[in-house]
Amino acid sequence: MTKEETMKISEAEWEVMRVVWTLGEVDAQTISETLSHRMQWKLATIKTLLGRLVKKEALRTQQVGKKFLYSANVSEEETFRSAQVELFSHLCARRVGEQLNQMIEEVPLTQADIDQIRQTLDKKIATNIIPCDCLPGQCHCHHAAESLE
Ligand SMILES: [Zn+2]
Repeated sequence: MTKEETMKISEAEWEVMRVVWTLGEVDAQTISETLSHRMQWKLATIKTLLGRLVKKEALRTQQVGKKFLYSANVSEEETFRSAQVELFSHLCARRVGEQLNQMIEEVPLTQADIDQIRQTLDKKIATNIIPCDCLPGQCHCHHAAESLE
């Protein structure tokens, strides 16, 4: 898998990945016990999810005695970032700012978070023109963007 390809991770697979990211090298049983507080998944389900994640190269596995141990091939930050890039790619570039603002309005933030976002915004240099690369009919700004070129 190349760096440019975004790895698609399902909701269920994310739950498994979070355990591996937190605990490091783990076996299916440990993941199953960790998730059992919230998920009613059978061990077989966990194993299926692990198999898929290995196939996607999100996890690697090695056999130690009778156990298979799983560890992450990708970092949590990297995976989250690519999911975020993927999500924003579904939106006209010109509407990303508006959506970010919406997100900030909706998510709970600590004072430290707010201070950090404020610092980032203070350093941010505004762009006058954001090019739209949507197809005609995918957004309302397409023709306006064409005339700018
Ligand atoms: Zn557009």
